[in-house]
Parts: sequence; C-alpha cells; structure tokens
Amino acid sequence: MKEKLQKIKEEAMNRIAASDDLTKLNDVRVAVLGKKGELTAVLKSMKDVLPEERPAFGQLVNEVRSEIEDKLENAKKALEAKELELRLQNEVIDVTLPAKKNKVGHRHPNTIALEEVERIFIGMGYEVVEGPEVELDYYNFEALNIPANHPAKDEQDTFYINNEIVLRTQTSPVQVREMEKGKLPIRMIAPGRVFRADEVDATHSPSFHQIEGLVIDKHITFSDLKGTLEEFARELFGPDTKVKFRPHHFPFTEPSAEMDVTCFKCGGKGCRFCKGEGWIEILGCGMVHPRVLRMSGIDPEEYSGFAFGVGLERIALLKYEIDDMRLLYENDDRFLKQF
Ligand SMILES: [Zn+2]
Repeated sequence: MKEKLQKIKEEAMNRIAASDDLTKLNDVRVAVLGKKGELTAVLKSMKDVLPEERPAFGQLVNEVRSEIEDKLENAKKALEAKELELRLQNEVIDVTLPAKKNKVGHRHPNTIALEEVERIFIGMGYEVVEGPEVELDYYNFEALNIPANHPAKDEQDTFYINNEIVLRTQTSPVQVREMEKGKLPIRMIAPGRVFRADEVDATHSPSFHQIEGLVIDKHITFSDLKGTLEEFARELFGPDTKVKFRPHHFPFTEPSAEMDVTCFKCGGKGCRFCKGEGWIEILGCGMVHPRVLRMSGIDPEEYSGFAFGVGLERIALLKYEIDDMRLLYENDDRFLKQF
C-alpha cells in the first residue's frame, strides 16, 4: 500500500509539473483528489489495512494528499501569473511605433489674399456682400450698360446656360443687385468666382475670382476713388507704394481708368519682376456711369459713385511671387504647404 501511495504521489507530481495550462492542472486534481480519484480510492481501501496500522497509514495518506495539494496550488499560481504576463504582453501599447499622422490643412493663397483685401476694406467701413454665380444676362451685361450688340459682350467669352442665363463673367452684377435694393449710401465689396470660356494657361483659367467694389453716396468724386484705392494699395503692398491711373474704357463707368502700383520688388526702378517697367497693373476702376445708376433706380443728379474690380488671383500671384496661375488650382500639397 505504501508503495502504491508513493507511486501515486510521484505520478501526480510529474503530471502537475507537466501541466502547462490551468485546464490540464485541473484534470490532474480531479484524477488524483476527485471523488473517483486515485488517492480517494486508496482512502476507500483503508478497510484492507490492518486496524493497528490504520492511523499511521491514514496519516501517510493525508501527508501525501497535503503535498499534492500544495504542489497543485503552487502550480496554479505560477500558471495564473504566466497567463497574466502573457495577456499584458499582448495588450501592451508600443509607444515607439510611428503614430497615425493627422494632416493639418493650410489656408489657400487665394483665401489669404481675400482675407487681407476684406480686412482693408472692412477697416474703411465697407460691407462684404455676395451674389449668384449663375446670373441673368440682364444683371451680367445689360444693367451694366452692355447691351446685346455691344462689342464688350464679345470680349468676355461667356458660358451661356440659355439666352437669358449665364455663368457670370464678372462680379459687377452684384453691384446692380445692391443698387436695386434702394438702400443708400452703399459701401461694399463683392468677392466671388467668375467664369469665362478661356483656355487654361499660365495667366488664364475658365474659372477665377474677382473682388468688386462699389461706393454710392452724395458728392462722391474721382478724388474719393483715387484716395480710397491709393490707401488700399499702400495697405496691401506697403506704405511706400505709389499709384498711377491710366485712362481706360469700361461700359459701366465714365470716366474709367486702370490703376498701376509701383513694383514692390524694386520700388519702381524696374526689375525682372515688373519686366523693367517699375509699375504693375493692379485693377480697373471708374465713376459709375449715370446710365447704370438710372437703370438701378438711382438719380444720377443726386447720387454719384465709383466702382472697381480687382482679380483675386492677380493679388495672390503678386504677393507670393507665383509665376503660374495654374498652381493655384492644382491643389498640389507641396505647393500649398508653403503658405
Ligand atoms: Zn520691379
């Protein structure tokens, strides 16, 4: 019996040592200490032991049982610790792994230029208004003193939706829409997208942006126009900037002019940037034609005003010395992130 007990103990110890997970360990417990386990069977066979040997034998069985239980308990703890460690290892966050990058966007050069222009005019008390990009022919041409047979209508290669509806070729129709509201005086700029059936090249695009300006009040003269646009140029290109007005023709203004600014690269001496001229053309302007005022229900005897239009891209290209307009529309990350 003692030998059998010894054998059970040795086998149990070996099986416990060989158990590499908690399930196998539990199987050993059941097989040895369970109701139908080997050690339990030995206890049940006590009746075969001589009565005087029973206490000593009982003690021996208990010792073996206790040893096996201790061994089981230690093995269980060791396995649990191992499993915990394994789980922690699997769940660990590797802080040395490269993180997912969140791309931070940039303001587009057009947007930066527009915000700058808006800042300047809002500072002078102007309102920023918007109008529709799909416009009636009437607002885009006729109300601006460009009747159907006017040559200026041909100069602007227009996208027609039908005979009466166009994609606006200029932001000037917003002027008419504001004047028609009848709320005077008016001090407004109207930035927005315009469309012309142009081929794409370094200086042309079928879609670009203009900023229209309009002032209507009593006693507005050409001096107001000059003073306002001179101040605008100085704010935009620096305090030493000089301006010059050249006579021009627009159907909706009279007189009309184009404004040049001194080259902000060479200060007017002439350089590669201004093609040796010293001056850079910046915008068109003029006194609102009396006919345009009258068509919008404003009495030209009582009110007068001036208007101007500047290309937003032109300002962005000049300010950032970009030599190809296409770069502004290609959305190339390498280009855009320089701003
Ligand atoms: Zn220059």
